[in-house]
Amino acid sequence: MIPVRPFIYLGKNAPLACGEIPLDALAKKYGTPLYVYSAEHLLYRLRLFTEAFCEQPHLICYAVKANPSLAILRLLDRQGAGFDIVSGGELERIVTVNKSAAARVVFSGVGKTAPEIDLALRCGILLFNVESEGELELLAERASKLRKNAPIALRVNPDVFAETHPYISTGLREHKFGIDIRRARAVYRNAAGYKWIEPAGVSVHIGSQIRSVEPFGAAAGRVADLVTQLRKDGLSIKYLDAGGGLGIEYHAAQPFKPEEKVLQYAAALIQAIRKLDDITLLLEPGRFLVAQAGALLTRVLYVKKNGEKTFIIADAGMNDLIRPALYQAHHEIVPVSPRKGRKITADIVGPVCETGDFFARDRELPPVRPGDLLAILDAGAYGHALASNYNSRPRPTEVLVQGKRARLIRRRETTADMLATESM
Ligand SMILES: *Cc1c(COP(=O)(O)O)cnc(C)c1O
Repeated sequence: MIPVRPFIYLGKNAPLACGEIPLDALAKKYGTPLYVYSAEHLLYRLRLFTEAFCEQPHLICYAVKANPSLAILRLLDRQGAGFDIVSGGELERIVTVNKSAAARVVFSGVGKTAPEIDLALRCGILLFNVESEGELELLAERASKLRKNAPIALRVNPDVFAETHPYISTGLREHKFGIDIRRARAVYRNAAGYKWIEPAGVSVHIGSQIRSVEPFGAAAGRVADLVTQLRKDGLSIKYLDAGGGLGIEYHAAQPFKPEEKVLQYAAALIQAIRKLDDITLLLEPGRFLVAQAGALLTRVLYVKKNGEKTFIIADAGMNDLIRPALYQAHHEIVPVSPRKGRKITADIVGPVCETGDFFARDRELPPVRPGDLLAILDAGAYGHALASNYNSRPRPTEVLVQGKRARLIRRRETTADMLATESM
């Protein structure tokens, strides 16, 4: 039985561990800030998806942007997973891992450039998720030039509202994503006229960190109706791409059972597309697979009081994990080796020169001293992926724990790495 949260204390007075490996040992060996991932947990989450959709022909296309580390991609590739990419750079990562995995790639994104399109055509990806008529024209031109077939889905905008942070909601007409579903039939008719364009699917993605399954069912239902119409129009639509976006619960106090959540999600989608025969469902989960498999380890530098407030100043900053600053995101933060004594209330902040550089505000936790290690949990998705060199800080190291082994999957960046592309 794999626990819902893969980071657990090995026993009373024992440090927090990933699987069997204590995190203090990893921090000592690799330094901090350090991202640690559990391979078992990631594979467990993938298995939950596979099992939930077992009755439905499907392909799980992991959303690479959530965590694009090569080692993570390789783990998923070995399970036969597909990939949802949003740039040429992500495609380069996939073919670096396994050239033949390109056949399992769907390419999303509103701003595909001609070189990115050419690369995807040459690699022979599964599906282009086309997000505008302009993109369709460019794709047709490039496909004809390279004499390569371009299987496409239009990413439609279903005008479905889903409760999430406004920065990661995408399914409303006012958003930049997709093509208005009411215009889609006309655009497909247009697409079918191009020699090298092959309309093969319909795609939708309504946003990220959506915890209720109803909006997914509503969106898929609208897309299923469109598939029926398009088939009547004579198009041979094989794929329904339901996007990603299934959320997790970042608050430990909230009950969260990923096993049940994914079953509800699968039931809502399968119910919504039940009238369609011979359809392969494409799924693009990112966060749900990888968020809870990862934690960010950071060492406390100082504990400082300003008036009434206590600040725990850690060696990780917003450049290492920007979710709290960018999305007001909550992350549980726990000491790797909790001290006994009265709980304190403190802001946990980083060294970056921004007031927004915080991980938690007015958080209650056991007493903390300089040198202590903290684990910022559920940081596997949109953590390292969004890390930057802001304040000329090297991006954090990454370690993958599998069984009894911990493996360095990204060494610490050096000043030389950071300066390599510059000249003066
Ligand atoms: C970001 C994104 C995803 C993944 O979203 P998660 O919330 O991480 O599951 C899937 N598909 C598309 C098109 C995306 O932009």
